[in-house]
Amino acid sequence: MSESDDGFTIECSNCKKPLCEVWKLNAKEGECSTKTVTIVVKCPWCEDKSWSKQTSGRFAFGDTDYTKISTVDAYIDEDGNEHLTLQTGKAKLNEIQ
Ligand SMILES: [Zn+2]
Repeated sequence: MSESDDGFTIECSNCKKPLCEVWKLNAKEGECSTKTVTIVVKCPWCEDKSWSKQTSGRFAFGDTDYTKISTVDAYIDEDGNEHLTLQTGKAKLNEIQ
């Protein structure tokens, strides 16, 4: 999946494996979020991590063929923006086809 209005894939900055899919969800009626969410995903294959990716609004995470999301650490900074760090584990595939 490439970047679009519907979502995007976060890849490892080192080995380029797709680590996590982010699906954008429709905002609830009357909801208007101006806060940003910064997402970093740790890579289980090379122990590196993705570039940080910013989004906003409502979204859901999805596993890829290479990873399964295990835990999500979140903190909110003083501006009210959210920072998420996703820990992933290895899934079934072990090489980019
Ligand atoms: Zn990697």
